[in-house]
Amino acid sequence: PLKDGDAYDEHQITVCVRKRPLSKKEVAKKEVDVVTIPNRDQTIVHEPKTKVDLTKYLENQHFRFDYAFDETADNVLVYKYTARPLVDTVFDGGMATCFAYGQTGSGKTHTMGGTFSGKAQDANKGIYAMTAKDVFRLLKAQQHKNKGLAVSASYFEIYSGKVFDLLNDKAKLRVLEDGKQQVQVVGLTERPVESMEDVLKLIQHGNNIRTSGTTSANNHSSRSHAVFQIILRTRQSGVPADRWKLYGKFSLIDLAGNERGADTSSSDRNTRMEGAEINKSLLALKECIRALGRKGAHLPFRASKLTQVLRDSFIGEKSKTCMIAMISPGLSSCEHSLNTLRYADRVK
Ligand code: ADP
Ligand code: MG
Repeated sequence: PLKDGDAYDEHQITVCVRKRPLSKKEVAKKEVDVVTIPNRDQTIVHEPKTKVDLTKYLENQHFRFDYAFDETADNVLVYKYTARPLVDTVFDGGMATCFAYGQTGSGKTHTMGGTFSGKAQDANKGIYAMTAKDVFRLLKAQQHKNKGLAVSASYFEIYSGKVFDLLNDKAKLRVLEDGKQQVQVVGLTERPVESMEDVLKLIQHGNNIRTSGTTSANNHSSRSHAVFQIILRTRQSGVPADRWKLYGKFSLIDLAGNERGADTSSSDRNTRMEGAEINKSLLALKECIRALGRKGAHLPFRASKLTQVLRDSFIGEKSKTCMIAMISPGLSSCEHSLNTLRYADRVK
């Protein structure tokens, strides 16, 4: 596995994998751990030694990514090799995006929004907060001090192809594309933030809205993409703050559970439609990231709301992207883990 102190390599697209530990519940159920991370970039899903359909997995499956984090890695280490380098991209006037991808329960929200102890979530320990902390720190650094930059944040959710504002009572928002192909989420709350306290309040507020008011049977947060954005603008006197010129933007995304994309054969019509929408957006995302790495390639950003809303992050000259593929280590998740690893494998 990757260890603190290992070299960081510069990439326009970074793809890594993070394996979470078996939970207490899984250990109690004698769940078998089938995932090994033997070195800093390799992941192996083992041929199950127990009773499963062996015709399905005849050999161990090997995957290679830029970095592989095992169950001993904490969010601080994961942050250091994923989002942290992209903070520099944003201060360089670029666009950065960081995605958490994986099945429900694999650790996407734990990584992005903050760790859980029981039902309480510690937003301080998530990548959203760590990113904001470094943004404030760098704002004061000598080389950026006199650029006149202001920081603001947005937090919204994309659910079944519709955008909802997590900083404004889940107001439903329209997405418009103007003649110059600029995409705009109309009325999206963009809150100026001056300190870490300000940011933490917004994250906590959004996190709570995201997970509350859901019926337990139909876990809403696993069916929606959450997008947290940190925005840098150049201050301009005599101009309202929301029209200050965009300098750089960092979008951090907690994606819908990828297993939900397979709900397309459900007997429930809503579930089926949502599943189709999730499937569509994850496919479009894969194609857009791939196109980023290829000059002149077509970006199918219009194929889903998710990619449409993130369009300006994909096309910027200085844009950089990181995907963290989360996997559950258990044998019972084996199929989903392989799907996740295959998807991540094709992103690059
Ligand atoms: P997802 O958002 O992908 O559905 P969660 O982030 O909610 O998954 O994680 C599911 C459970 O596993 C949570 O209770 C979380 O605290 C725990 N968990 C996830 N990743 C880790 C990790 N790296 N270390 C310890 N616990 C984790
Ligand atoms: Mg989640």
